Amino acid sequence: MPEGKIVKALSGFYYVLQNEEMIQCRGRGVFRKNKITPLVGDEVVFQAENEREGYILEVKERKNELVRPPIANVDQAILVFSAVEPNFSTVLLDRFLVLVEFNQIVPLICITKIDLATSDHKLTISEYAEQYKAAGYEVILTSSETEAGIEQLFPHVDNKISVFAGQSGVGKSSLLNVLRPDLELKTNDISSHLGRGKHTTRHVELMKIGNGLIADTPGFSSLEFNNIETEDLTSCFPELQKASEDCKFRGCLHVTEPKCGVKLAVESGGIPAYRYKHYLDFLQEIKDRKPRY
Ligand code: GDP
Ligand code: ZN
Repeated sequence: MPEGKIVKALSGFYYVLQNEEMIQCRGRGVFRKNKITPLVGDEVVFQAENEREGYILEVKERKNELVRPPIANVDQAILVFSAVEPNFSTVLLDRFLVLVEFNQIVPLICITKIDLATSDHKLTISEYAEQYKAAGYEVILTSSETEAGIEQLFPHVDNKISVFAGQSGVGKSSLLNVLRPDLELKTNDISSHLGRGKHTTRHVELMKIGNGLIADTPGFSSLEFNNIETEDLTSCFPELQKASEDCKFRGCLHVTEPKCGVKLAVESGGIPAYRYKHYLDFLQEIKDRKPRY
């Protein structure tokens, strides 16, 4: 049986990409019985009726599943931040990183609009970039205006499903446009004036860019830590996770516990103070969360 990947879902049809061919498929009753709704990003087995049409027989097990936008098997989240307009913020970046790590998606940090930064500000951004690299992250500085860093970004989208994430206005659509110039997505200039514009629910589609697929709708629009528990948080900060191997107590949350490896690493300068502060702030936010039932 042929297999492929759903790249678009619209009006009851699933568009399945197999090699370079697109097959328009219908689902079958079996999905309703098993309460599975095929999602964009799903790997499926299908039966071809002719060269262009078929129906889906089976949805393969998912590696993960995003709710907004609804998309399965996301490998990578490209976290887009602007150097300026709006200014780069480590606390917002750390919030995105926690959400992405919690969903077991690999983050790639992209700091764009670098052409707008003064040389002093560029220096500050580069220092942050080094610190995030030391924590284990890939960081790329880009500009959609001068196309600086785009060549460096390109190989990272190959052979995987990526989703862009980041605040409105940071430059996500502009980056998509330079990655694939024939696309012509509307940039924020236009859509921000339409009010509802970007936030209306709409279908999501995967676009082929090089040998990779990128969702045309950004993910992680909700920045709440709803499903995250206090004991999950350390693993969302890779360098804290590593340092916690030296904590004396199992289940150490690195707050007031003695002989804490994380606190030692912060004191010795191995972990930047702001990363630890954000960890503590997020921990408090999770503790303060009201019980949902
Ligand atoms: P989005 O909301 O994240 O998709 O952001 P957009 O791509 O719509 O960009 C918001 C604004 O920033 C637009 O006016 C873009 O022209 C501008 N912009 C985006 N990227 C760059 C860049 O790298 N350099 C400069 N100078 N402007 C940019
Ligand atoms: Zn500890």
